[in-house]
Amino acid sequence: MAGLYVHFPFCAAKCIYCDFYSRVRKDWKPYVEALLREIRERSEERKGVHPTTLYFGGGTPSLLPANQLARVAEEVTTGHLFEEFTLEVNPDDVTADKAAAWREMGANRISMGVQSFNDNHLRWMRRRHTAAGAVAAFGRLRAAGFANLSLDLIFGFTGLTDEDWLHSIAQALALQPEHISCYQMMGRWADPDEDRCRQQYTLLQERLEAAGIRQYEVSNYARPGFESRHNSAYWTRAPYLGFGAGAHSFDGDRRRSWNQPDIDAYVASRPGGSETLTDREILEEKLMLSLRTVQGLSLASLSPAERATLKQTTLEELSRAGKLIVEEGRIRIPAAELFVSDAVIRRLFPD
Ligand code: SF4
Repeated sequence: MAGLYVHFPFCAAKCIYCDFYSRVRKDWKPYVEALLREIRERSEERKGVHPTTLYFGGGTPSLLPANQLARVAEEVTTGHLFEEFTLEVNPDDVTADKAAAWREMGANRISMGVQSFNDNHLRWMRRRHTAAGAVAAFGRLRAAGFANLSLDLIFGFTGLTDEDWLHSIAQALALQPEHISCYQMMGRWADPDEDRCRQQYTLLQERLEAAGIRQYEVSNYARPGFESRHNSAYWTRAPYLGFGAGAHSFDGDRRRSWNQPDIDAYVASRPGGSETLTDREILEEKLMLSLRTVQGLSLASLSPAERATLKQTTLEELSRAGKLIVEEGRIRIPAAELFVSDAVIRRLFPD
């Protein structure tokens, strides 16, 4: 299942933890023109890929005037039926008018960056909304008819206690979203206490499971049937096309290309780059992506040469240590070890 991604690299302010490519500026008109041009110029590629999911991400796409977003949506969706059309939003952009316009342009899934339900933490992160603002925004999205809503949360940052964390989880669950994505703080603001981070991860797994929101990937949880199709396709190495500054495209095999990761360079149509993956990089990618999911990796999806590089002794060792389950032609990481999935997966990389 192939996907189509459109990047909107604008933010009203930069959050302290964020290293996505985005800029605090408002000259989105020339950017939208450049996007429309790129989408038209690459229409043949789309025909070859048949994308079934569409994702408007950022940055903060919700910051753009609804009519500008709608122009891009129209260009992309005309003549195409997307099963899932996700729009990333920030709570402070969600007015009743914008929510209605987003429905009108065809979005059927919203991913809202809430991050925390503690106002002190939100201020510290330099988020623009409050906890009450996020709750109100969620209500407006429901009122506009969105039946597939996802919330983003962050854990594992300095100063976050288990009590704070349980409060944020409870507030998120009270809204009854269909989906929750939850990321561990990385870099400068990460809590160095590994045990506390792990405890917060486990608390999240337990509370969401009890509420019927099941984990399907290291950072993603959904009510059955509401797993993100777009992101799930990334983990199977399905092809995708990316439009906009810094957006990547992938042919589903070994070629990846990207646009200039800079608004001005992109608007000026400066060419981006590309790479061809080696056999080793492909295998590492397959392991890294599939083993992040609760379904894990089907050994049948590997070529005989790739299977031969998986060291039986390492598989047995990890299995004996309870870090890997090998059964029915699949290998997967048990829920209790997903917190350290990266370390487990790297053990399987070829020498
Ligand atoms: S709004 Fe989103 S993309 Fe923009 S700086 Fe904050 S986290 Fe990053």
